[in-house]
Amino acid sequence: MPDTFDTAKRAFRDLRVSVTDRCNFRCTYCMPKETFGPDYQYLERTELLTFEEIARLVRLSKDLGVTKVRLTGGEPLLRKGIEGLVAQLRAIGDLDLTLTTNGSLLARKADALASAGLDRVTVSLDAVDDATFKAMNDVDYPVAKVLEGIEAAADAGLGPIKINAVIKRGVNGHAPLAMARHFKGSGHIVRFIEYMDVGSTNGWRLDDVISGQDIVAAINAELPLEPIKPNYIGEVASRWRYRDGSGEIGVITSVTAPFCGSCTRGRVSAQGMLYTCLFASSGHDLRQMMRGLASDAELSAAIASIWETRDDRYSDLRSEATSDLPKIEMSYIGG
Ligand code: SAM
Ligand code: SF4
Ligand code: SF4
Repeated sequence: MPDTFDTAKRAFRDLRVSVTDRCNFRCTYCMPKETFGPDYQYLERTELLTFEEIARLVRLSKDLGVTKVRLTGGEPLLRKGIEGLVAQLRAIGDLDLTLTTNGSLLARKADALASAGLDRVTVSLDAVDDATFKAMNDVDYPVAKVLEGIEAAADAGLGPIKINAVIKRGVNGHAPLAMARHFKGSGHIVRFIEYMDVGSTNGWRLDDVISGQDIVAAINAELPLEPIKPNYIGEVASRWRYRDGSGEIGVITSVTAPFCGSCTRGRVSAQGMLYTCLFASSGHDLRQMMRGLASDAELSAAIASIWETRDDRYSDLRSEATSDLPKIEMSYIGG
C-alpha cells in the first residue's frame, strides 16, 4: 500500500494507542490531584476499545503506512492482560512495537511483555533522588522500584531502554545532572523533555520550562558532550554523546525548538478517538464507526481522509495565548 500524506506532506508513520485513562501516579504536570481526585470519573470498561478493536485499527493503519506503534496511557500496564494485546499486535506483522510506562509494574510484567513480542520499553522517571521524584509523582512512589522495573526490562531483552524525564523548573530543574551521572555507562538513554502545555489542568507557564539547551549546558559543564546525528529523519530527540564514549542522552525540545514539520504521529485515545495532534481540541470517533459495523474499507478510507486533511502544527504556533485553548488531557492520549 502507498503511504498516506497530510496537507504538509507528512506521512502517517507512527501510531500511539492509549489503552487506559487510569494511572497509579499523580504527576503534577499530567494528572494533578486537584483534578484527578477520588471523585474523578474515569471511562467505564465498556467505553474502552477492546483489544480486537485496537488490533483492527493497527492493522488498517499499517496498510496506510504506519511502521511504529507505541502503547501508552494513563498507565498502560494497569490494563488487564496487556500482554495479550501485545501478542495480537505482534501477529499483525512487521511493526516496531513499543510501550511507555511509569515503570511501577514493570518488574512484574517485563518477561510476559517480551514473550508476547514487545520490542522495547520507554520508562518515565523524573529524578533519581526520592524527595524530587516523589514531588513529581505525588503519590510517594520511590525511585528504587522504578529502577527495579528498568533492570527487569533490560534483562528481558526490552532494551535499549529509553528513560523519559520531564523537567519542570522549581521542582526537578536540578535533576538532569544527577540523572545523567546515574545512567552514564548503563546502556540506557535518558531523554530530557521540556515541560509542555498539554491539557488544561496542569497550570502550565512558560516560566516553568527549562530549555533543552540549558539542560545540555548543565550536563556538558561536568560531563562533556558532543552532538550526534539523528538515527532517522524526523527523530524527535536531539542526540548528544559523552565525549568519553560512555553513552548518550537526548533532549526533546517541543517548546523551544518544535518539530511539527516532521511530525508523523497519530494518536488514538482509550475510547477510540483519533487525534492528529497532541494539542488537538477534538478528535474523530473511530469506536463509533467500528461499533456501527463499518467495514474495513470504510474505516480505512475514514482514517486516510482524516490524515489527508491534517494541518496541525500547534508547537510551531505556540504562545502564552495558545496555551489557554481547550485541549485534550495527556492521560487520555498518552504523550
Ligand atoms: N504513564 C506512562 C508514563 O508516564 O510513562 C505513559 C503515559 S504518559 C502521559 C507519557 C509521557 O508523557 C510520559 O513520559 C510523561 O512524562 C509525558 N508527559 C506527561 N505530561 C507531560 C507534560 N505536561 N509535558 C511533557 N511531557 C509530559
Ligand atoms: Fe501517570 Fe504517566 Fe501521567 Fe505520570 S505521566 S500521571 S505516570 S500517565
Ligand atoms: Fe506533532 Fe502537534 Fe506536536 Fe506539532 S504540536 S509536533 S503537530 S503533535
